[in-house]
Amino acid sequence: MGVPMLDLKRQFRSIEADVYGSLNAVIEQQSFILGEAVEAFESDLASYLGVEHAIGVASGTDALLLTLKALDLRPSDEVIAPAFTFFATAGAIHNAGGKPVFVDIDPLSFNIAPDAVEEAITERTRAIIPVHLFGQMADMHELSRIAQEKELFLLEDAAQAIGASQFVGEQWRGIGAIGDAAALSFFPSKNLGGFGDGGLIATNDPDLADRVRRLRVHGGRKMYHHQDVGTNSRLDALQAAVLQAKLPHLDTWNEARRSHAEWYYERLSGLEDKGFLRRPRIASENKSVFNQYTLRVQDRDELRDFLTDRDIGSAVYYPVPLHLQTCFSHLGYRSGDLQASEQAANEVLSIPVFPELSVNEQETVAASIEEFYDG
Ligand SMILES: *Cc1c(COP(=O)(O)O)cnc(C)c1O
Repeated sequence: MGVPMLDLKRQFRSIEADVYGSLNAVIEQQSFILGEAVEAFESDLASYLGVEHAIGVASGTDALLLTLKALDLRPSDEVIAPAFTFFATAGAIHNAGGKPVFVDIDPLSFNIAPDAVEEAITERTRAIIPVHLFGQMADMHELSRIAQEKELFLLEDAAQAIGASQFVGEQWRGIGAIGDAAALSFFPSKNLGGFGDGGLIATNDPDLADRVRRLRVHGGRKMYHHQDVGTNSRLDALQAAVLQAKLPHLDTWNEARRSHAEWYYERLSGLEDKGFLRRPRIASENKSVFNQYTLRVQDRDELRDFLTDRDIGSAVYYPVPLHLQTCFSHLGYRSGDLQASEQAANEVLSIPVFPELSVNEQETVAASIEEFYDG
């Protein structure tokens, strides 16, 4: 029996009628650009996150890009980001006219290391982008302290972390509640996925909300009158309808991911004791939503081939850290500069953790990993 890395069909079958109903309403109205469906979803998502403003855009990449554009970066302005993340985090900095400054990660959480951030700050630094990688929030307590002290904009890349929370300042806080803004993605493989691309900016700052609302419609609040040079980047009404139908199930799905993660944690403890792999840390003060369940393993590429031969899905997020990408060679980083990121890129392997995964399938995955190491 094979096990897929992700099977979106199972989720769709469980909510089919709601999704078709929601889509139908938009189709009957023939109202495809912004309008009711997008407004309703923005309002529901703002309540879900506990933020004042939610602005739907065309993708998670654009959520990052439009927020950074609102900072009016000048060419030598620096934005600090982790080297170990999806490309969009850094691509957006470049495309907004800034210079990415890459820093290393904390090897246990895979998230940006606050002390490395502090060391990288210069007089040209304007913003910090912590990425809540694989569904676990970065250390927002330390990062917000640093951002406040140095008056830097704190933009959370929350593309993989909708529903995650962290115990900060004696209370549980979600994404977007601590930073100045959070960028979300509804790419189909994210915890809340649409039927295509989609993204959203969450913020409590009314001026920023206004600005990005303008930027997503070519920079003018009034048609044909432009204060900014914006772009066309709206959350599609059909996507908003799908997401609206899915949102009520998100917490249940995230719970299922968490319980799969706990199951793997128990099941794979023997292999960790023997030194073959390391399981992701499940921190009590940090509720991860496990967009990915990511191990560090020995002989990663061989294990991956072994699993592929048995029709078991796995993935390497991410094989090359961003400071070593060809497109950023002009920034002058060398191999060895950010060692924790480089080591992670060589060791990580994500295994199936989607909500509808069965215990039998999890057992198949675990038993196959065991077979690879223990024979
Ligand atoms: C998916 C993702 C993005 C980009 O989102 P898109 O909707 O695919 O544009 C940005 N950052 C991270 C960390 C992501 O995982």
